[in-house]
Formats: sequence, structure tokens, C-alpha cells
Amino acid sequence: MSLHGGSEFGFELACCRWAERQWPLEETDRSVVVARQLGTKRRRWDTIVLECDPEGLRRRALFGPERLNGDLLHVVRNAPAEWEYYRDGLPHPGYPWRYVRESIHEADNRGILETRRDGNRIEIRQKWPYPDWLERVVAIENKPDLDASAARMLGPQLEYDVAMALADEVWVATRRTGERVEPALFEDLPVEAGILALDPDELEAEVAWHPLTLSVENRGTRILERPSGSGRDASAARFEYVDPDEKASRRLAIAERAYERGWRSFAETMRPDCKAFELRSQNQLLPYCRAKNCLPTAAECSGSCPAFEPEPPAWRTRGWPIEGGPGKRLKHLLEKRRRRHRPGLRAEE
Ligand code: SF4
Repeated sequence: MSLHGGSEFGFELACCRWAERQWPLEETDRSVVVARQLGTKRRRWDTIVLECDPEGLRRRALFGPERLNGDLLHVVRNAPAEWEYYRDGLPHPGYPWRYVRESIHEADNRGILETRRDGNRIEIRQKWPYPDWLERVVAIENKPDLDASAARMLGPQLEYDVAMALADEVWVATRRTGERVEPALFEDLPVEAGILALDPDELEAEVAWHPLTLSVENRGTRILERPSGSGRDASAARFEYVDPDEKASRRLAIAERAYERGWRSFAETMRPDCKAFELRSQNQLLPYCRAKNCLPTAAECSGSCPAFEPEPPAWRTRGWPIEGGPGKRLKHLLEKRRRRHRPGLRAEE
């Protein structure tokens, strides 16, 4: 029996697991980090695959499992190798220095920057150089049932991605139908986007259409508004340019969030502490609701679920004295798997 059923959420988890096992599709020694539901304010991708330099990824782990936000990145990437007053050692951030001081304290608390005082002056020194770990960003939209109307909805989003070129490649993953020519190919999608035909149960996929590599190092075009397409709409599309430096810092910000979050973080919003919740295995661990007999979405498996029943207190004491019950144990299990894919992180981090 397919655990995924017709669920888009299940398909998305299958796509993440498949990418973790099979990416990169070409022969290369790059390591991958997979995350889901991340992007920018205007555009959120279902699945994100980071192709990373293996040694760089290992050295990234020195900075801990949590993401570094833009302010922290400014400090750790520019921190001098020898002791220096922070205002001399760092380039002007473009915002008041007091915010930099806050980031310096945070970096110090997290143990990723060295600091000392010389009278009133704070001096800083890098602990390790921040590595160049990110090589490529691949964005995948999951549309298990890619019919004409789904393609019409998806088309403009992919056109936005192609024009912005924030990711190196964009893909659509759809359910493998077994037909000789995947029907998705006939739909109205930009030719730059790749199409992946995925069997979510077997975790096998075929490339039905190869994507073009987008020019991430060039200026991007952000489409702000487009004509509706109806014959009576004579308005022009509105767009703006995004310079390469801004794109590079957005890519790194997305990568840092992906590094922190991974794709198994669904347990953080779902209710593994519900009596009916369990993880079932079908080539991967998937959330399953015994009460509803299905793979629940993150939205339905939440505190507002009418069928939620907390795990009995006895479960928390019998057999699981430390972890605090099966709900916690499941969270730990998923967390352990996430760490396994972040080489260099210590078990307790
Ligand atoms: S009953 Fe509701 S809260 Fe409990 S596992 Fe099922 S969907 Fe989640």
C-alpha cells in the first residue's frame, strides 16, 4: 500500500528523500543538503537542494547547526585573522555600528568569534575562516498531478525563477505515470525548467526534460506584475533588476536557513506527542496518523486537530525516562537523521 496516497505533502517528503539519496545527478564529488519550504519573501520553493564543496561543508559545521543570519555573516566572514578593534577590522556594514556590536556579542556567545576588551574598545579575531561551502542551489517545485490547470498556475512562478536566476536550476517534480512521453512535457512550462518524473513509493526518478543552467552571477530580473493575459488587458509587465551581489547574499542566506532546517523539521510543527501519531517506513520514515489512517499534512496534524489526543503520561515514564515519551523519541530520531547529513557536527550540537 502506498503511504503517500494522493498527498502533495507526502510527495514532497519523497522528493526530499530521493534528492538526499540520488543528487547530484551527474558524476561529481559534491555533498548535498536538502531542505523544504524555503525561499525569499516573494517566492517559496518546495524542495531545495544545495550542492556543496565537501570540505567546505565540513568546515561550515564548525559554526554550529544554527543558521548565521546576514548580520552574523557580516561579522564572521570579515573578522580579521589578528586582533583588531572591530570598527577597524570590519567593513562598514551600511547600518549603525551598535547592531554590529550586538552581532559580535551573539557570535561570541555562540563560540564562533574571539573577542577581548582593550579599555572601552572591543577587539575581535576570527576563530576559523568562514568557508566557501555553497556551490549550487537547485529549486524543485513538487506537483504530483501536473495537469493543464496546475501547469497554468505553476508557469508564471517558474518564469519568475528563470528571470531572477537566484537558483542555478529550477525543476518540476511530478508523479511518474509510466507513459512513454511524460504528459507534463506537453504543458505550458518554461523550457528552462527541468522535469523530473518521480515514483514516490519506490523513490526512483527519471529526467523527462533537462533544465538549463541559469546565470546566477549576472543581474536578475524580478517580475513584479504581469498582464493578466486576457485580450482586454493592455497593461505592460512591471519588473526591476537585482544586482549580482544582492543575489549572492540572498543565496547564502537561503543556504544558511536550509542548513539549519533540513527537510525533516516537519516534526517540529506536527504532533508526534499525539497518541495516534507514528512514523512508518516506506523507503523512508513518514508521519502517519492511526486515527485518520493516512499521512496527515502539517496543517491538519497540529494543535487544532479535533482528533488530537495527548500521549498518556504513563508513556512518558515507562521505558522512556529520559527522552520523555515516544513523541520526543520520534523527534530525536528525525533530528539524528538530519545531523547525519551535516558532516562535521558533533552529536550533542
Ligand atoms: S489525530 Fe490529529 S494530531 Fe493526532 S496524529 Fe492524527 S492528525 Fe495528528
